[in-house]
Amino acid sequence: MRGLLVGRMQPVHEGHLDVIKRILNEVEEVIIGIGSAQLSHTLKDPFTAGERVMMLTKALTENGVPASSYYIIPIEDIICNSVWVAHVKMLTPPFKHVYSGNPLVQRLFVEAGYQVTEPPLFNREIYSGTEVRRRMLQGEDWEALVPDSVLEVIEEIEGISRLNHLSKKEVKE
Ligand code: NAD
Repeated sequence: MRGLLVGRMQPVHEGHLDVIKRILNEVEEVIIGIGSAQLSHTLKDPFTAGERVMMLTKALTENGVPASSYYIIPIEDIICNSVWVAHVKMLTPPFKHVYSGNPLVQRLFVEAGYQVTEPPLFNREIYSGTEVRRRMLQGEDWEALVPDSVLEVIEEIEGISRLNHLSKKEVKE
């Protein structure tokens, strides 16, 4: 059986890893959709889809998740929510089960007849993209919230300097 998880993953953090491991206890293969793939270089969506694919691939490898058990697929947003499920289906291997904590994602898949599960959140106050990005900008300890391999990717792409630069630009506009 195959399951689907869609997330913006801006950036990948320990909560994402936790939910992916849980899903793999229930299904043989998980499809991980990198949502809002077209977005990057903003304070809310700083990282490109390619950078997020790299973070996720390395974090799963670091955690011993075999490459044969997942597919990582960038998914761009579309204007019409009512046909989003068909858009996702077009881009992904077949799946029966959807895992999401996002009410819009849940609703769209329920209406399309999918089995939808809301996985438990792991320490959501700190394991959230919003909190990781806030700490990055404030110079606080964000490193503890992400796997070591994600930290290395963010260093490689000079992610903190990108966020700091963008924050100056967005204040000026
Ligand atoms: P996200 O990265 O915030 O979360 C993804 C999933 O990870 C969550 O649903 C949750 O199950 C899990 N998760 C997050 N933190 C966790 C934690 N601490 N512990 C355990 N699990 C945790 O992403 P999101 O905002 O839910 O992503 C949805 C994507 O779908 C977005 O990119 C959105 O644009 C896209 N979308 C697009 C359309 C459209 O194009 N019309 C419609 C609906 C959704």
